[in-house]
Amino acid sequence: MTHSLNNVTVLGAGVLGGQIAWHSAFKGKQVVVFDLFEEALERCKMAHRQYAAIYQADLGASVDMISETQSRLTYTSKLGEAVSAADLVIEAVPEIPETKTAVYEQMAPLLPAHTLVATNSSTLLPAQFATATGRPEKYCALHFANMIWSMNLAEVMAHASTAEATLREVVRFAIEIGMVPIPIQKEQNGYVLNTWLVPLLSATQSLITNGVSTPEYIDRTYLIANRGCASGPCGLMDIIGMKTCYDVMNYWGNEKQDAQLLSNAAYIKKHFVDKGKLGLQTGEGYYSYPNPAYQQPGFLDVPGLDAVDELVALVCPKALAAAS
Ligand code: NAD
Repeated sequence: MTHSLNNVTVLGAGVLGGQIAWHSAFKGKQVVVFDLFEEALERCKMAHRQYAAIYQADLGASVDMISETQSRLTYTSKLGEAVSAADLVIEAVPEIPETKTAVYEQMAPLLPAHTLVATNSSTLLPAQFATATGRPEKYCALHFANMIWSMNLAEVMAHASTAEATLREVVRFAIEIGMVPIPIQKEQNGYVLNTWLVPLLSATQSLITNGVSTPEYIDRTYLIANRGCASGPCGLMDIIGMKTCYDVMNYWGNEKQDAQLLSNAAYIKKHFVDKGKLGLQTGEGYYSYPNPAYQQPGFLDVPGLDAVDELVALVCPKALAAAS
């Protein structure tokens, strides 16, 4: 019989885990957030305070709704405690297959018999991890998008042995928390969203890695070509988080032996990850936050004629140096 999945545990308190946890609690679920690292749990609590403000400002949430949301959330670094009452575990640990496999294997003996497990992986397949969960028939992918409160979609992907009852409950859960479920009809890395988003971000990063253009001009191009969008691809990388962008490009660079992807991953590691500039979550990535340049008035305006020298210097630095 189909029943509601009311007790939810989120594994990984990072960018997406934090959002899934907050949003599920906002929609009435009891949520436990698990992370290996206490610092990550503290960062997640800080992010939840920011989401409280966003949900009040953008979704019209009342003070009572926010305090009820907070009362439904608990945080722990103890895995056994985290999953002991879970109806559904949503895994949102880094996009590194070995890390995901290790978490599933550790968790398997600790789970109640009825618990369903879903991965929020952006680009990996549920088939890769089904055995490690110890309950393949109760396992599928449920992939959320960043900024879950406005990008309210949830891609649902089965693997060969996922039970129909599992999919029924997981789809129902997605609807209960206000998502538009996107059924994926066969396993494919990247599902729908990342099948086009990852190539867009990789192509964008190649333009930067290879010195062809700058983040601001790439985003300007994108935002003029797609008027009304909230951010361009570089802004989007900041929102996704540089560590996850690195993990995805590094994994697929190795997997496909793609030299450009590996060089893009190396660029992101050197310029961002190694410097602790993880994007929006740390206040700096391609842009500085709050108030990134692409949200400033005038970002898409036709420049004044006094900008000619600067623009020519970007196209042809040698010519400009010779003229001056
Ligand atoms: P993140 O790096 O922000 O967070 C990952 C969290 O997992 C960190 O807090 C880390 O401390 C924790 N962690 C690491 N090892 C762990 C372990 N063994 N057990 C428990 N926690 C552990 O990453 P993210 O961007 O939130 O991505 C997480 C997953 O969600 C990835 O599979 C990613 O592809 C997917 N995803 C990300 C986005 C996005 O926009 N960032 C969107 C959709 C899906």
